[in-house]
Amino acid sequence: MTTQQCPKCKQNAFTWYVSEVLPNITVWSCNACPLQIYEDDKEEEVCENCNEKTKTFLQSQEEQFNWCSECNAVTNYQLNE
Ligand SMILES: [Zn+2]
Ligand SMILES: [Zn+2]
Repeated sequence: MTTQQCPKCKQNAFTWYVSEVLPNITVWSCNACPLQIYEDDKEEEVCENCNEKTKTFLQSQEEQFNWCSECNAVTNYQLNE
């Protein structure tokens, strides 16, 4: 499986799998840092940085942000309370 650049540690070690418990959830995790974050499988949006339709919404208990799998831009970063 191909890996992508992790939005946290910037290592090329970010991979995903489909959750067995929640089939419409994609789980993203990094092999180089503790980041594990969830993607709700809905339409990807157009990235304002690279104009590709590859911007997705990732969220965990701690944080949420938009992330583009094409250019790795992180936008709308929010720490959850
Ligand atoms: Zn990482
Ligand atoms: Zn982009």
